[in-house]
Amino acid sequence: MDKIVSLAKRRGFIFQSSEIYGGLNGFWDYGPLGVALKRNLKECWWHDMLTGHDELATLPGAPTPYEMTGLDCTIIMHPQVWKCSGHFDLFHDWLVDCRESKRRYRYDHLKGRWASHREKRVFVVTEQSGDEALVETAAKAQKFFGLRANKSSEIEWAEAMVPLAGNAPFAEALGPDAASPGTLTEPREFNLMFETRIGALAGNDDDRAFLRPETAQGIFMNFKNVVDTSRVRVPFGIGQIGKSFRNEITPRNFTFRSREFEQMEIEFFCKPNDSAAWYRFWRDRRWNWYLNLGLTPGRLQLREHDADELSHYSVGTADIEYAFPFLPDGEFGELEGIAHRGDFDLRSHMEGKLVRRDGELVVETDDAGKPRHRGSGKDLSYFDDISRERFVPHVIEPSAGADRAVLAFLCDAYHEDEVPDEDGKPRSRTVLKLHPRLAPLKVAILPLVKKDGMPEVAIDLYRKLKPQMATMYDEKGSIGRRYARQDEAGTPWCITVDGQTLADTTVTLRDRDSLTQVRVPLDECVDLLRSRLA
Ligand code: ATP
Repeated sequence: MDKIVSLAKRRGFIFQSSEIYGGLNGFWDYGPLGVALKRNLKECWWHDMLTGHDELATLPGAPTPYEMTGLDCTIIMHPQVWKCSGHFDLFHDWLVDCRESKRRYRYDHLKGRWASHREKRVFVVTEQSGDEALVETAAKAQKFFGLRANKSSEIEWAEAMVPLAGNAPFAEALGPDAASPGTLTEPREFNLMFETRIGALAGNDDDRAFLRPETAQGIFMNFKNVVDTSRVRVPFGIGQIGKSFRNEITPRNFTFRSREFEQMEIEFFCKPNDSAAWYRFWRDRRWNWYLNLGLTPGRLQLREHDADELSHYSVGTADIEYAFPFLPDGEFGELEGIAHRGDFDLRSHMEGKLVRRDGELVVETDDAGKPRHRGSGKDLSYFDDISRERFVPHVIEPSAGADRAVLAFLCDAYHEDEVPDEDGKPRSRTVLKLHPRLAPLKVAILPLVKKDGMPEVAIDLYRKLKPQMATMYDEKGSIGRRYARQDEAGTPWCITVDGQTLADTTVTLRDRDSLTQVRVPLDECVDLLRSRLA
């Protein structure tokens, strides 16, 4: 992972935000290559899910044909949106502070194991997992008991690493960065939504607004607008790409857990009876999307949630997960969640915030029997003018993170191998084997030397390609160094103009992954590369 982070910085993919002021934890900027990669990823999603979708065909696994459309909603919405969606009351993590180190942890991320030596025992807490957790707790216990390294085998360990929650009294817990036990505070609830105030005279509680923690709610806000103003009929989906904000307690693992990030979300509206079939369709469609863009099948995992993991309104949720290199072997991190949300969202925004009681979704009330959070009172049901039925559509939500996907594609693309240099000797290279659709640059045009008319031919070809695809012209340095630069940037093809070009108007086309070099007529380059990208 360190190598990937270092390449990302060195080659201008990802920088820490506000770096000259020491950086801001949980915020990241995309550099020249990074912004191109991320835009390509989002455009692939937008094209493959929305604009390129064939609305007349029945796709494999789909119950019927369906339509797709898009939206772009605001980041700040009416505060009532978050009250009815449940985020105001429920979107929180539990945090634990350390009085000694002043550090803050997510309660559900803390685990540990009991260690005893002679009369003393302590619960050694760590945030790590896998082998790192074992190493860290062993070192901490040795220090705590004041033992030399050769005496560490005297420590007796309870076998398993268990969550702190429910397994140890706080007085006996030795925090990850503390020297003595009992420094961790009891867990406190912490709402993850960033707050702001609207208007110059803001002052009272009514002016409190929130930065959206997901893009989905903007889609529900506009469900009726879309149905009333476009010709879509259920089943149809609305997609949106945009920024979301979560005040994560412990942002970490590069961009994986950020405080500002981008989501690519679809809300798919269907008839209640068909919703289980649509859920399966979307789960499989999204899974295949990652594979088609080149993620290694063995590093990708589809995980159906167990019944006790499901949100109170959901009949099914699956996560698409990737084996990120910063995770211990065998662990996966979420790229996307596909959730069957029933009619929870539309009904909540009609009737008021819902809770499940005796298996039924009912409006939550306060002690006086009034709705705890009042809905809009607007009718968000749908009338099917062919079957003459009125119903509140069920919703399937494929919700993906653009930054996590970029990170997964970067990690997956990273390879180190050997190539022969100009003298035929093996030279190690770093190469990003990105799918050509994702690659920031598609082709680099390289004159072999800066003379004999080669730059002129190369510049002419560059000008023909540039309007068609992301093309770079590079005449600086040895040809080997220039290939190496393009390999690190993930550029799938290089075209070299050399001595033979001047004689027979052919050029060398070099393939990043296979390293094959073939001669291609100069005037066929544009069509050839266009067809490879299609
Ligand atoms: P996690 O359990 O990892 O916090 P989540 O289950 O809360 O994620 P969702 O609410 O399902 O995530 O959000 C949908 C998607 O948005 C996630 O699959 C992920 O790709 C992305 N996402 C969520 N939180 C973050 C974050 N803090 N940084 C980057 N991407 C995120």
